Amino acid sequence: TFVDQELSAAELERTFIAIKPDGVQRGLISDIIARFEKKGYKLVAIKLVHPTKDFAEKHYDDLKGRPFFNGLTDFLSSGPVVAMVWEGQGVIKYGRKFIGATAPLASEPGTIRGDFAISVGRNIIHGSDGPETAKDEIALWFKPEEILTYKKETDKWLYE
Ligand code: GDP
Ligand code: MG
Repeated sequence: TFVDQELSAAELERTFIAIKPDGVQRGLISDIIARFEKKGYKLVAIKLVHPTKDFAEKHYDDLKGRPFFNGLTDFLSSGPVVAMVWEGQGVIKYGRKFIGATAPLASEPGTIRGDFAISVGRNIIHGSDGPETAKDEIALWFKPEEILTYKKETDKWLYE
Protein backbone atom coordinates (compact mmCIF):
# COMPACT_ATOMS: atom_id res chain seq x y z
CA THR A 1 0.00 0.00 0.00
CA PHE A 2 0.92 3.68 -0.30
CA VAL A 3 1.33 3.98 3.48
CA ASP A 4 3.77 1.08 3.59
CA GLN A 5 5.82 2.61 0.80
CA GLU A 6 6.01 5.93 2.64
CA LEU A 7 7.13 4.23 5.81
CA SER A 8 9.79 2.24 4.04
CA ALA A 9 11.16 5.42 2.42
CA ALA A 10 11.70 6.80 5.92
CA GLU A 11 13.22 3.53 7.05
CA LEU A 12 15.59 3.30 4.15
CA GLU A 13 17.77 6.27 5.11
CA ARG A 14 20.66 5.02 7.18
CA THR A 15 23.82 6.52 8.56
CA PHE A 16 26.98 5.18 10.14
CA ILE A 17 27.77 6.57 13.59
CA ALA A 18 30.82 5.59 15.65
CA ILE A 19 31.69 6.55 19.21
CA LYS A 20 35.47 6.90 19.02
CA PRO A 21 37.85 5.50 21.69
CA ASP A 22 37.77 8.77 23.67
CA GLY A 23 33.97 8.67 23.91
CA VAL A 24 34.05 5.06 25.12
CA GLN A 25 36.79 5.77 27.68
CA ARG A 26 35.01 8.86 28.96
CA GLY A 27 31.74 7.03 29.59
CA LEU A 28 29.68 8.83 26.94
CA ILE A 29 28.16 5.81 25.19
CA SER A 30 24.76 5.95 26.86
CA ASP A 31 24.38 9.71 26.51
CA ILE A 32 25.16 9.63 22.79
CA ILE A 33 22.86 6.69 22.09
CA ALA A 34 20.09 8.38 24.11
CA ARG A 35 20.13 11.46 21.87
CA PHE A 36 19.56 9.44 18.69
CA GLU A 37 17.04 7.17 20.39
CA LYS A 38 14.97 9.99 21.93
CA LYS A 39 14.85 11.86 18.63
CA GLY A 40 13.03 8.85 17.22
CA TYR A 41 15.76 7.27 15.14
CA LYS A 42 15.95 3.49 15.06
CA LEU A 43 19.08 1.54 15.96
CA VAL A 44 19.48 -1.18 13.32
CA ALA A 45 23.05 -2.34 14.04
CA ILE A 46 25.50 -1.99 16.93
CA LYS A 47 28.77 -3.58 18.03
CA LEU A 48 31.89 -2.85 20.06
CA VAL A 49 34.99 -3.14 17.87
CA HIS A 50 38.69 -2.52 18.39
CA PRO A 51 39.73 -1.46 14.86
CA THR A 52 43.19 -2.31 13.54
CA LYS A 53 45.43 0.46 12.20
CA ASP A 54 44.83 -0.90 8.70
CA PHE A 55 41.05 -0.75 9.20
CA ALA A 56 41.28 2.81 10.59
CA GLU A 57 43.23 3.82 7.46
CA LYS A 58 40.47 2.34 5.29
CA HIS A 59 37.80 4.22 7.23
CA TYR A 60 39.64 7.54 6.84
CA ASP A 61 40.88 6.80 3.32
CA ASP A 62 39.73 10.23 2.03
CA LEU A 63 42.08 11.95 4.50
CA LYS A 64 45.21 10.06 3.42
CA GLY A 65 48.02 12.57 2.90
CA ARG A 66 46.75 15.03 5.52
CA PRO A 67 49.33 15.89 8.22
CA PHE A 68 47.10 14.49 10.98
CA PHE A 69 46.30 11.20 9.17
CA ASN A 70 48.79 9.06 11.10
CA GLY A 71 47.77 10.44 14.49
CA LEU A 72 44.10 10.12 13.60
CA THR A 73 44.35 6.48 12.53
CA ASP A 74 46.56 5.63 15.55
CA PHE A 75 43.87 7.17 17.72
CA LEU A 76 40.92 5.40 16.07
CA SER A 77 42.73 2.08 16.46
CA SER A 78 43.77 2.76 20.09
CA GLY A 79 40.78 1.07 21.75
CA PRO A 80 37.18 -0.05 21.49
CA VAL A 81 34.79 1.91 19.30
CA VAL A 82 30.99 1.64 19.33
CA ALA A 83 29.95 1.17 15.70
CA MET A 84 26.29 1.76 14.89
CA VAL A 85 23.82 2.14 12.08
CA TRP A 86 20.89 4.48 12.74
CA GLU A 87 17.83 4.67 10.53
CA GLY A 88 15.10 7.22 9.91
CA GLN A 89 14.00 10.17 7.87
CA GLY A 90 16.78 12.75 7.55
CA VAL A 91 19.13 10.77 9.78
CA ILE A 92 22.30 11.49 7.77
CA LYS A 93 21.99 15.27 7.89
CA TYR A 94 20.42 15.40 11.33
CA GLY A 95 23.10 13.06 12.69
CA ARG A 96 25.68 15.61 11.61
CA LYS A 97 23.69 18.36 13.37
CA PHE A 98 23.63 16.29 16.54
CA ILE A 99 27.41 15.82 16.29
CA GLY A 100 28.34 19.46 15.66
CA ALA A 101 31.33 20.99 13.87
CA THR A 102 34.57 19.04 13.40
CA ALA A 103 36.40 21.34 15.83
CA PRO A 104 34.58 21.05 19.19
CA LEU A 105 35.29 24.66 20.14
CA ALA A 106 33.39 25.68 17.00
CA SER A 107 30.48 23.34 17.84
CA GLU A 108 27.35 24.84 19.36
CA PRO A 109 26.43 23.93 22.94
CA GLY A 110 23.77 21.25 22.72
CA THR A 111 25.70 19.30 20.12
CA ILE A 112 27.66 16.20 21.14
CA ARG A 113 31.06 17.71 20.37
CA GLY A 114 29.95 21.07 21.77
CA ASP A 115 28.88 19.50 25.05
CA PHE A 116 31.64 16.94 25.56
CA ALA A 117 34.86 17.74 23.70
CA ILE A 118 37.58 20.37 23.35
CA SER A 119 40.12 19.35 20.73
CA VAL A 120 39.67 18.32 17.11
CA GLY A 121 41.81 15.20 17.54
CA ARG A 122 39.62 14.02 20.47
CA ASN A 123 36.16 14.85 19.22
CA ILE A 124 34.25 11.81 20.53
CA ILE A 125 32.17 10.75 17.57
CA HIS A 126 32.09 10.07 13.85
CA GLY A 127 29.09 10.39 11.54
CA SER A 128 28.72 9.89 7.80
CA ASP A 129 28.65 13.20 5.93
CA GLY A 130 26.35 12.21 3.04
CA PRO A 131 24.44 9.38 1.35
CA GLU A 132 27.48 8.02 -0.51
CA THR A 133 29.79 7.95 2.52
CA ALA A 134 26.97 6.48 4.62
CA LYS A 135 26.61 3.62 2.16
CA ASP A 136 30.37 3.01 1.97
CA GLU A 137 30.97 3.25 5.72
CA ILE A 138 28.07 0.94 6.60
CA ALA A 139 29.45 -1.61 4.12
CA LEU A 140 32.97 -1.26 5.56
CA TRP A 141 31.93 -1.74 9.20
CA PHE A 142 29.02 -4.17 8.95
CA LYS A 143 28.10 -7.38 7.17
CA PRO A 144 24.59 -7.21 5.68
CA GLU A 145 23.29 -9.81 8.17
CA GLU A 146 24.41 -7.62 11.09
CA ILE A 147 21.90 -4.94 10.06
CA LEU A 148 18.36 -5.70 11.22
CA THR A 149 15.11 -4.58 9.69
CA TYR A 150 12.28 -4.45 12.19
CA LYS A 151 9.10 -2.59 13.02
CA LYS A 152 8.59 -0.57 16.15
CA GLU A 153 5.19 0.26 17.54
CA THR A 154 6.32 3.87 17.88
CA ASP A 155 6.94 4.21 14.13
CA LYS A 156 3.34 5.32 13.69
CA TRP A 157 3.79 8.02 16.34
CA LEU A 158 6.88 9.36 14.62
CA TYR A 159 5.80 9.45 10.99
CA GLU A 160 2.55 10.82 9.62
P1 GDP B 1 34.33 15.06 10.65
O1 GDP B 1 33.56 14.52 9.46
O2 GDP B 1 33.64 16.22 11.29
O3 GDP B 1 34.67 14.00 11.64
O4 GDP B 1 35.69 15.68 10.10
P2 GDP B 1 36.67 15.20 8.89
O5 GDP B 1 36.03 14.12 8.08
O6 GDP B 1 37.11 16.43 8.20
O7 GDP B 1 37.92 14.62 9.67
C1 GDP B 1 37.84 13.37 10.28
C2 GDP B 1 38.46 13.47 11.67
O8 GDP B 1 39.82 13.83 11.53
C3 GDP B 1 37.87 14.55 12.55
O9 GDP B 1 36.70 14.13 13.25
C4 GDP B 1 38.99 14.86 13.49
O10 GDP B 1 39.03 13.92 14.57
C5 GDP B 1 40.21 14.65 12.61
N1 GDP B 1 40.69 15.94 12.08
C6 GDP B 1 40.12 16.68 11.10
N2 GDP B 1 40.81 17.81 10.89
C7 GDP B 1 41.83 17.77 11.77
C8 GDP B 1 42.92 18.65 12.06
O11 GDP B 1 43.06 19.71 11.46
N3 GDP B 1 43.79 18.27 13.04
C9 GDP B 1 43.64 17.09 13.73
N4 GDP B 1 44.52 16.78 14.68
N5 GDP B 1 42.64 16.24 13.49
C10 GDP B 1 41.76 16.57 12.53
MG1 MG C 1 34.18 13.21 7.93
